[in-house]
Amino acid sequence: MAKQTKKKKSIGWEYAPAPESLAQANIAKRYDHFIDGKWSKPSGGEYFRTTNPASGKKISEVALGSNADVDKAVKAARAAYNGAWGKMGGRERGKYIYRIARLIQERAREFAIIESLDGGKPIRESRDVDVPLAANHFFYNAGWADKLEYAFPNRQVAPLGVAGQVIPWNFPLLMAAWKIAPALATGNTVVLKPAETTPLTSLKLAEIIEDSGLPKGVVNIVTGAGETGAAVVNHEDVDKVAFTGSTAVGKLIQRSLANTDKRITLELGGKAANIILEDAAIDQAVEGIVNGIYFNQGHVCCAGSRLFVQESVYDEVMWKLKRRMETMIVGDPLDKNTDIGAINSREQLRTIKRYLKAGQKDGAEMYQPACDLPSNGNWCAPTVFTNVSQSSRIVQEEIFGPVLAVQTFRTVPEVIEKANNTPYGLSAGVWCDKGSRLFQITGSLDAGVVWGNTFNQFDPASPFGGFKESGYGREGGLHGLAAYLDM
Ligand code: NAP
Ligand code: MG
Repeated sequence: MAKQTKKKKSIGWEYAPAPESLAQANIAKRYDHFIDGKWSKPSGGEYFRTTNPASGKKISEVALGSNADVDKAVKAARAAYNGAWGKMGGRERGKYIYRIARLIQERAREFAIIESLDGGKPIRESRDVDVPLAANHFFYNAGWADKLEYAFPNRQVAPLGVAGQVIPWNFPLLMAAWKIAPALATGNTVVLKPAETTPLTSLKLAEIIEDSGLPKGVVNIVTGAGETGAAVVNHEDVDKVAFTGSTAVGKLIQRSLANTDKRITLELGGKAANIILEDAAIDQAVEGIVNGIYFNQGHVCCAGSRLFVQESVYDEVMWKLKRRMETMIVGDPLDKNTDIGAINSREQLRTIKRYLKAGQKDGAEMYQPACDLPSNGNWCAPTVFTNVSQSSRIVQEEIFGPVLAVQTFRTVPEVIEKANNTPYGLSAGVWCDKGSRLFQITGSLDAGVVWGNTFNQFDPASPFGGFKESGYGREGGLHGLAAYLDM
């Protein structure tokens, strides 16, 4: 095993540290739930810490949601649905959603800093990806609020009622936007439960919602752990459940809702194939591999965690990939030069380390570049496994860390079969110079999203979602709106 303590080789020049100033981040010592337009103390009086995964230090504490808190939030959401919000026309609803989008843009820097502080992702990503995309989801959905009859012609559309939404820690603000924006555009009300380790940007979003003047009770945010999430999805007065998270919890939710008439969408795990053909532009493809798996520490459901390289270009791709990995900067998420930030939690780091051991035990060869990892906090060097077998756990299971498993192939039918040989079906990527071949392959992959000569590109107008154990239902685009409508 390559030692992570190995001193990083000098590349002849270094970046000077460029950390973001924390002066912009206005974080309270303690946060209550946001229910019925007010900050509401937890009924049990309990709070839990949210920490900075790059240092292990406490940032703030947030309310621990009980069944009673969730009940209060659902009642507020129902009252708003039966009251002002339910009676409001699409044009008026749209104005509020636009206002939320603009307020996110105005406070973009603060959101980016808090996202990186609470979750560990590099500031470059929170600033350039998460926050602008979150604002764009509100803009996009705001535009549809008064045009639903054009979005779904010849249909009588009606909102579903109260939506119970539970989100994970990898894109905290963006996932909140994915969930809240289409629900509001279609006239529903919301109870949202953010992830335990990353509640802060959802609570900052609650501040924006307060500032936007949105009628009380339309959006309620209850913080807590898995039990709080279970209370939201199982509440009898919730009409629609939207869950993003692991396949294991998604299955639990599906089971517990089997006897109800609640509408469900599940966005679950993934194990994406990233396929490099011999005629691909190799330098671009290597950047795509790096972006596909090391982006956001591999805490990405659609991460390109299985790499398939055509045999004739294997040596070239691996040489370029390893050379590129050597230049990656792992460290302070708030530093603008950082490529790989902190692993979100100690538990997640333990999980990743278990997979690193499992990969080696299965006989795969592990490579990590020399990295100066900080001594405190949760860190993992970018890792690539070669000589892996199709049956190895690192090929079959979602790791959710910066760990890539590489396999080779000779022919197109062979790679299609290998790529589809997984219980998941969320995303995939294909790198190839010839358009016709690219479309032949993309059309044969069982994946909800397939990128051609790029990876990890998102757009609010484009539906996102999976096949097989990656869940069902789509978020984004018109499909995302349809999931919140009766028609
Ligand atoms: P997770 O453990 O399933 O948690 C997701 C959310 O569900 C969290 O808010 C969690 O609360 C809550 N939760 C836990 N147990 C619950 C229960 N029994 N009932 C209701 N809610 C419950 O997943 P995660 O580890 O946070 O996130 C990583 C997973 O999300 C990966 O598998 C990833 O692929 C998937 N993901 C999928 C997409 C997609 O669009 N397909 C996008 C992002 C992530 P706590 O925080 O307290 O555990
Ligand atoms: Mg945290």
